[in-house]
Amino acid sequence: MTFGADLAGKRILITGASSGLGAHFAALCASQGARVAIAARRLERLESMVPDLMKLGAADVRTIELDVSDGAAIHACRAEAVEAFGGLDVLVNNAGIAREGAALDQRAEDFDAVMDVNLRGVWLMAISCGRHWRDTGEPGNIINIASILGERVSAGVASYAVSKAAVVQMTKALALELSRHKIRVNALAPGYVETDINRGFFETEPGRKMISRIPMRRLGELSDLDGPFTLLASDASSYMTGAIIPVDGGHLVSSL
Ligand code: NAD
Repeated sequence: MTFGADLAGKRILITGASSGLGAHFAALCASQGARVAIAARRLERLESMVPDLMKLGAADVRTIELDVSDGAAIHACRAEAVEAFGGLDVLVNNAGIAREGAALDQRAEDFDAVMDVNLRGVWLMAISCGRHWRDTGEPGNIINIASILGERVSAGVASYAVSKAAVVQMTKALALELSRHKIRVNALAPGYVETDINRGFFETEPGRKMISRIPMRRLGELSDLDGPFTLLASDASSYMTGAIIPVDGGHLVSSL
């Protein structure tokens, strides 16, 4: 029994798909026979991913150049994905950045950059897809990639935490408004997942200390996200909207 947890044939658009979680989600969707549109700024990198995604079993793969801080590009990206697949089933709002450092040392430009990508980009993409689904009457499904830093705080990533808290609230607010259009909006809130970018930090003393505060005493692996992602992207979650699902080894419930 699969409880509808199947992405075969689904038309899925993933932003920030050229690395990390986004590239992993693309491979996961491909391996289940989905049609995947991978969007990011680095088109060459996206194109180099296509043969592997096809080999994994994707029913179709499209690459789309996208800077989510550019509203016109967001609209064009959504239109291109819809045109390529004759519609769209799932939007994965994954692109995100962090500007690390003490809040008092951050420049206004750093704050703006984080908000442009993590908040405004996610909002504009959701609205563009939402309007498409409302106007066509087709059901829609949005998965926002939030973070446990949207619910709790850690020093040195204040603007990132603020942006992710806004994504959590956006997920709930849009779930409420878009349900009447058969559009579901949920979020995954990953804890610390080991990627190329953070591996060095977790080999340092502060990094090891952080791991010791995770109740499960280990970092997340990309594959830990597979089940929760597939749940949200598939019909297995057909009665879920406005949910924020932590995937964090218990980090959110660590002792104060
Ligand atoms: P990453 O840097 O590997 O991936 C981020 C992706 O977003 C990249 O492909 C990057 O090119 C893209 N991106 C950045 N700015 C963009 C822009 N203006 N337009 C289009 N694409 C842009 O990092 P990641 O860890 O894979 O992060 C993916 C998502 O997961 C982010 O939203 C991040 O906040 C979230 N997240 C990551 C972790 C973790 O531990 N890695 C934990 C919680 C949440």
